[in-house]
Amino acid sequence: MTVTIALFTQDLRLHDNPVLHAALADGDEVVPLFVLDQDLAATGFAVPNRQAFLLDCLVDLDASLRAVGGRLVLRQGRTADEVARLVEQTGAASIHLAAGVSGFAARRERELRERFGARLRVHDASLTALAPGAVTPVGKDHYAVFTPYFRAWQRAERRTVRRAPRAVRVPDGVQGVPLPRARADSPALPPGGESAGRRLWRAWSPDRYEEQHDDLAADGTSRLSPYLHFGCLSAGELVAQAVRRGGPGAEAFVRQLAWRDFHHQVLAARPQAARLDYRSKGDRWPYHEREVEAWRRGRTGYPIVDAGLRQLAAEGWMHNRARLLTACFLSKTLYQDWRIGARHFLSLLVDGDLANNQLNWQWVAGTGTDTRPNRVLNPLVQADRYDPEGTYVRRWVPELAGIPGRAVHRPWLLADRPDYPEPIIDPGLLAARLRQARGLD
Ligand code: FAD
Repeated sequence: MTVTIALFTQDLRLHDNPVLHAALADGDEVVPLFVLDQDLAATGFAVPNRQAFLLDCLVDLDASLRAVGGRLVLRQGRTADEVARLVEQTGAASIHLAAGVSGFAARRERELRERFGARLRVHDASLTALAPGAVTPVGKDHYAVFTPYFRAWQRAERRTVRRAPRAVRVPDGVQGVPLPRARADSPALPPGGESAGRRLWRAWSPDRYEEQHDDLAADGTSRLSPYLHFGCLSAGELVAQAVRRGGPGAEAFVRQLAWRDFHHQVLAARPQAARLDYRSKGDRWPYHEREVEAWRRGRTGYPIVDAGLRQLAAEGWMHNRARLLTACFLSKTLYQDWRIGARHFLSLLVDGDLANNQLNWQWVAGTGTDTRPNRVLNPLVQADRYDPEGTYVRRWVPELAGIPGRAVHRPWLLADRPDYPEPIIDPGLLAARLRQARGLD
């Protein structure tokens, strides 16, 4: 009787899971294992919103495994130690794991490799539609610009989408620990898990995505990001289904999934880009505590910026357009270190993802892969364009709920001032600090 271990990490699903599929093909019995890793907890990454969502995912994964005769074995400690204990107990012949792209994932893989050698099997297209490194420019280890990456990505061959297994047999006597409890910070967090993710995917249509994806009030994007981050949904399966569906909306949606792959392949090649400028502009960021604090609390006096930050606090999620303009406001208009903003996002985002968050922040701050690194988004122009009726602002900034239309974007112009802060920076100086610091004038 051959036993194998399927070590789940950011692939918390049964459908189209290369790790589970290979572990089942390799053995008669499989231990579906998840380790609540104390080293990851020590990094501070496991914040309440993502921890609460993760526990939902684990409950759901356990239920889905039980429905096909298995169960999830949960352990707590260091991943390599827990795997070693299980190998000793079950005589497991192989350990299957999805390749990750963070420094933490690389260390975990290295340690497992040192202990288990060739018994460790790493599956590299589990977390993305296309594996990092599957396409590269001539003579380089990764793409630094999205457009050529996307062209290569579209032409590349993708792995076959796998069905969910019909039966999983777990060896007797393998013990786990009970699930801990977690309380989310944000009151309106979505439910976690593969079942919830698949329900959302089935209910959502990309048909109007192209014209709606930047409309803040319409809220017409998929909201699948947390399910993709935890691997409740397979990016490869979503791409395959959207390509089959076709049409401009599905094509635009597929392009966003390619952005996700793009950032993953950058981080896989440059794990230090999670902390250091990818392309330094020689910035020496000042630190203005009062301004940073006003930004975090959604009290900058710019309603569109404050609406985004308050949505983040309430839902643990923010619309992409709002992420762009709030990040630009902090890193370029206020000219504060992008890492401060990235850390704040990661402290709340339920989809908080090292590759997507840090590299999008760097893109916005002009230290990353944007080919126009010094552009500054004007929050007032953005507000008029992407929230033309002011509906998004009124939804998230209740102090301004009584102001009709787009007047809500400039409360300082009203004769009857609402109880709301004055703009933290003069509307005429939105690009001034960046231009001066980077010597652009
Ligand atoms: P949709 O518009 O429906 O897109 C579908 C999927 O494509 C998303 O779920 C996501 O997986 C992917 N995607 C979309 N846009 C991007 C993008 N710009 N970069 C990479 N992938 C993308 N996304 C995260 O998943 N985690 C993060 O921590 C994160 N931090 C961000 C920080 C900043 C400053 C910015 C500007 C963007 C960030 N994004 C992040 C990207 C994007 O904002 C979110 O993925 C998107 O808003 C999620 O909503 P959705 O699922 O409805 O997206």
